[in-house]
Amino acid sequence: MKKVIIIGAGFAGLSAANRLSKCGLGLEITLFDKKERSDFLPVIPDCIGRGINPELLACDIAYSCRKLKAGFIREEVLSVDFESRQVSTAQASYSYDFLIIASGSQTNFFSNQDAQDYAFSLNSVNDVKAIIKALGENKFDNFIICGGGYTGVEAAANFWLYLKKKGLIKKIIIVERAPAILGPLPDWMKAYAEKNLKNMGIDILTNSVIEKIEVNKVTLSTGRVFGNPMLIWVPGVRTADFIQKLAVNKNPQGRIVVDEYLRANQYCFCAGDTALFGKNNNFLRMAVQFAITEGEHAAKNIIRSIRNVPLKKFRPLDLGYIIPMANNRSCGRVFGLNVKGIIPTLLHFMMCVFRLKGGGRC
Ligand SMILES: Cc1cc2nc3c(=O)[nH]c(=O)nc-3n(C[C@H](O)[C@H](O)[C@H](O)COP(=O)(O)OP(=O)(O)OC[C@H]3O[C@@H](n4cnc5c(N)ncnc54)[C@H](O)[C@@H]3O)c2cc1C
Repeated sequence: MKKVIIIGAGFAGLSAANRLSKCGLGLEITLFDKKERSDFLPVIPDCIGRGINPELLACDIAYSCRKLKAGFIREEVLSVDFESRQVSTAQASYSYDFLIIASGSQTNFFSNQDAQDYAFSLNSVNDVKAIIKALGENKFDNFIICGGGYTGVEAAANFWLYLKKKGLIKKIIIVERAPAILGPLPDWMKAYAEKNLKNMGIDILTNSVIEKIEVNKVTLSTGRVFGNPMLIWVPGVRTADFIQKLAVNKNPQGRIVVDEYLRANQYCFCAGDTALFGKNNNFLRMAVQFAITEGEHAAKNIIRSIRNVPLKKFRPLDLGYIIPMANNRSCGRVFGLNVKGIIPTLLHFMMCVFRLKGGGRC
């Protein structure tokens, strides 16, 4: 019986397990995750503004694994030995015939210990629960979002909605190191999002960095000081700690460069945020649609390897992307068309509902 280990029970890991469980080869499939529950990340910013219960976004991994007839080991993977084909945790080492690394990404604190101590991250259901709990204490005067990417912009709009519903007038500030928010997106989208945020009264400070973080104040590189801040730390993500030690090609975020079959080597495939797929500096972005399809494809190529038939190249289909805004003035590109307003907001939630229960999720 061939043993397949999957590290990470997120979108990529669960869709891979789902595919493998249906192949009829009697595989021994084991999922590893450091958490008990798998988080549905695209909706977590909406828990702040729209009042969605974060508990609805966490699915019990053990339950999903029982449904898929896969094993579940709730342990953090600390290292992988490609030579001996073993995965190790603090408790034990486990051998595999094939491995899928689908451990997603985590908040990058860029070694800033103060940010780790005082800031809130927004990368899990527990993160958003901590934010909501702290908001309940009503002790903040300034809401500072460090990072003007997708998550920062979405978070800022949700804080705006939260404060509006509570009838509170406080400052929301996006602090972005680059000259513009939403880095690689088309100019029209950046302009639309920026205008929309400004209409909500949100300040956007570009070419600025957070220089000092203290218990009750944040100082920017420009010298501006914000007292009683709630600091939301979303300047970027990086892959899991064990990946940093792996002798494979990686980009600065620690995403593993994979070949056209999604392999890091003959017996190790990668999927989701962990995998860097593409060429000529044109790589797939981190997104649910790619995590799900890569997970499935990696699983199918493992099945082909076991059956001794040629592997198939991964050919991604990009359906587009949306920047959801809590005031329903979202924007994005869907099926090659530019979209803005309420339509992309509705599409975002329709996709989320569709995906909430699919691909091996509970
Ligand atoms: C706030 C936010 C909003 C987003 N909104 C959107 C959106 O609107 N649309 C979209 O397409 N994408 C969105 N994304 C991105 C999307 O959520 C990710 O691309 C997707 O979750 C990646 O799936 P994955 O399976 O690779 O990783 P994940 O879903 O993150 O799963 C990885 C799993 O691996 C586990 N793990 C990590 N390290 C270890 C270890 N060492 N040992 C064991 N287990 C480990 C984790 O606990 C986790 O369960 C958003 C992300 C965030 C944070």
